[in-house]
Amino acid sequence: MDINKFYINGNFVEPDGSEKLDIVNPATEKVVGQVISGSIKDVDNAIKSANNTFSIAEALTLDQKKKILEEIIEGMEERREDFAQIISVEMGAPIKMARRGQYGSGVIHFKNTLSVIDRFNFKEVHGNITVNKIPIGPVGMITPWNWPLNQMCTKVASAIAAGTSFVLKPSEITPGAAHIFAEVVDKTSMPKGMFNLIHGLGTTVGRAMSSHPDLEMISFTGSTRAGIDIQKSAADNIKRVSLELGGKSPNIILDDVDLEQAVTMGIKQCFLNTGQSCSSPTRMLLPKDMIDEATNYAVEAANSMSTGNPLDEAIYLGPISNEIQYKKVQDLIQKGIEEGATLACGGIGRPDGLDKGFFVKPTVFTNVDNKMTIAQEEIFGPVICLIPYSDIDQAIEIANDSAYGLSSMISCSDEVKGQALAKKIRAGQVILNRVSRGDYPAPFGGFKMSGNGREHGLFGIDEYLEVQAVIT
Ligand code: NAD
Repeated sequence: MDINKFYINGNFVEPDGSEKLDIVNPATEKVVGQVISGSIKDVDNAIKSANNTFSIAEALTLDQKKKILEEIIEGMEERREDFAQIISVEMGAPIKMARRGQYGSGVIHFKNTLSVIDRFNFKEVHGNITVNKIPIGPVGMITPWNWPLNQMCTKVASAIAAGTSFVLKPSEITPGAAHIFAEVVDKTSMPKGMFNLIHGLGTTVGRAMSSHPDLEMISFTGSTRAGIDIQKSAADNIKRVSLELGGKSPNIILDDVDLEQAVTMGIKQCFLNTGQSCSSPTRMLLPKDMIDEATNYAVEAANSMSTGNPLDEAIYLGPISNEIQYKKVQDLIQKGIEEGATLACGGIGRPDGLDKGFFVKPTVFTNVDNKMTIAQEEIFGPVICLIPYSDIDQAIEIANDSAYGLSSMISCSDEVKGQALAKKIRAGQVILNRVSRGDYPAPFGGFKMSGNGREHGLFGIDEYLEVQAVIT
């Protein structure tokens, strides 16, 4: 797909910028389209549109917001296959997973926001004090390539509920889903100019947004490296900066569980989306006398995953989404070998039978020391570290010995024990025993260098609001 129009003030417009960026299918390494990278003038135009519409967005009634959310859900359902296909082609998500996980994790944010918006208190009265929650002002949103729809939808759904206008810049590697989303929005009753979409490089368009005096906030999902840069660029006009960054999440498996089941689930969860999730449980912590048995189960689970053409419905692992990331994954696997971790399966190079595409062998390292580079750095591929621990105190110490604190898993048979253990883990999310979605949208966000924002449901709406006290 060639993307040569931006969506500004409710219209698909020719951008001022003319630089064309290639969109590459990572399974074939072929160029499948181009996207125009915006100029400073494009950034200004989009931000101007968001500013002009802010007063209309903040005046939307609850019913009007709900109607917009419902219309988006309906419009997205109609374009479901288009979303899945473009995500699969641009970032290599296996098509079955693109239809369910990638598409599903996007649309669910509109459904979840609808399910909680009636409960959100935009006003609280405490005696003579009224506390109003008021939309913050025009927001810039910058999103990455690994879950293109999910990350943009969680921001957009919350911003609509809060009643603010915004400018979205998706990743230049996966711009297609956002373009289709703009076509969906175009058919809704959302006021023109409330949602603006521009494309381009992070270092030009993204930076121009972060430093722009007419945005009140940046909501960013992406690497910790870019998050630091954004926070610095945003400092000059005291913008609120909400950051959802990287992770190196632990999965603590206790000695009282069905080991095969816990390890198999941990590998599946870690390798979901070809290991390209910020919350992937990439460090599996195991009682040291169980690590050999666990390694066998891990290797079995990794080797049972088929790697190949993402458009093949039987495939579980696609390619890494881009060449830079592919080389980084290869380098880190090499580093793990050099630093003395035991390579239980996988390793450098492509899986057998694949001589093109950014494919990585599903890789299990065992007997890893948590100080090794592969246990500290985010790898972002189908690579896992099995790390032994002697007792529960050491497991907690290893789990928290990370610059990150986004997510974590605990497998244990006693839920009370698991809840107590969870409180000792310095991470924004603890998944106890299994991954299941309840009725309540759980807040999502990190501790430490994983960020400072909270998204989803009620917490997500709060991000886009200012607190005002009225004293009578
Ligand atoms: P990235 O940081 O390179 O790019 C993300 C976005 O930021 C892109 O749109 C890019 O153009 C833009 N960008 C890059 N540098 C910028 C700068 N200096 N100023 C402004 N914008 C800039 O990240 P990526 O490689 O696309 O995505 C992978 C990263 O995202 C991983 O580290 C992953 O853990 C993280 N991530 C975090 C979450 C979360 O919710 N915590 C979710 C998904 C991904």
